[in-house]
Amino acid sequence: ARRAAIEARSEPAVTTDGHHVTVLANVASAAEVGAALDAGAEGVGLVRTELLCLDAGRWPAEAEHRRALRPLLSPLAGRVATVRVLDFGGDKLPPFLAGDDDGSRGIALLLRHPAALEDQLAAILAEGAGCRLRILLPMVDDVSQLLAAGELLARARKRTGIETGSLGAMIETPAAVAGAAAIAAHSAFLSIGTNDLTASTLGIDRFAAGTAPADHPRVLAAIARTVAAAHDAALTVEVCGEAAGDPAMLPLLLGLGVDELSTGAARVGPARAQIRSLSLDDCRRAALAALEGAATPQRG
Ligand code: PEP
Ligand code: MG
Repeated sequence: ARRAAIEARSEPAVTTDGHHVTVLANVASAAEVGAALDAGAEGVGLVRTELLCLDAGRWPAEAEHRRALRPLLSPLAGRVATVRVLDFGGDKLPPFLAGDDDGSRGIALLLRHPAALEDQLAAILAEGAGCRLRILLPMVDDVSQLLAAGELLARARKRTGIETGSLGAMIETPAAVAGAAAIAAHSAFLSIGTNDLTASTLGIDRFAAGTAPADHPRVLAAIARTVAAAHDAALTVEVCGEAAGDPAMLPLLLGLGVDELSTGAARVGPARAQIRSLSLDDCRRAALAALEGAATPQRG
C-alpha cells in the first residue's frame, strides 16, 4: 500500500488528453504541509494565516508572524508557496478587534491598519524568500485595494531587501468578479475563493453554503468570467475553495479553464487521481452544459 502511495504521488496530474493541472494544498499547519507534499501536491495554494493567530491579544509583530510561518514555509523551498495575508472579519474576528468591528473584512479591514499589514508582508518576504512566493489578498473588492497593498509591499521589500514574491487577488465577491479585468491588470495571479463566492453570488449565508453547491449556473458564470479576465491578462488562475477538491466540481472547473486547484491535504491524492481519469474535452462539454443551466430556470 505504501509503495502504491509513493507511486501515485510521483504520477503527473495530467488528463487523458495531455493537459497538466497544478494541484496545490490549502494549509494552516506544518503537519498539513507534510501531508500535502506526501500526497503529491506541487506546493501550497493557500496558507490561511489568520488561523495561526485567531487568539492573539493584539496585531502580531513581524517576529511573531515569522515564528508562525517558518515551520510551514521551510519545507516548501523551491516550490509554490501562496501566503494569504490575514483574512479577519465575519466569523474570524480575534478578541483584539472585537470592539473595532465596522463590518469590513479581509483586505479592506487590513488596509485600515497599514502598519500591521506591512509587518506581516515583511515577515512573509523573510520566511518565503526560498520559495516561489506568492502573496494573496483576501476579499478584494476593487483594484484600489491592490494598489494600496502593493505600496505597502514595496515598503516591506525596501525594509527587508527581499525582492521575491508576486502579488495576487482573491476573487470571492460579486464586486471582484465585475472588476476582474481591472484587478487582473494589476495582479500577478488570481485565486477564486468558491466558498465565499458561492455564498455571496447566491446571497446566502456562508454556513448554509454547504447546501448551495458551487455548480449553480450563476456561480459557474462568475468563475468563467474570472478565468477569462485572468487569461486575457496572461495570468494563471487558481481555485482554492472547497469546490477544488469536490469530485463533482473538479471536471467543471477544468472545463472552465482553471489552471490550478488548491484543496485540503486529504483531497490532494484523490484530486490528482481524478484528473488522470478525465479528458479536458469532456470537461469542456460538461462545463458548457452546466453553464447553460443559467438559461433554464429549474434552479433558483
Ligand atoms: C474561499 O472563500 O473559498 C476561501 C478559500 O477562503 P476561506 O475559506 O478561508 O474564506
Ligand atoms: Mg474566503
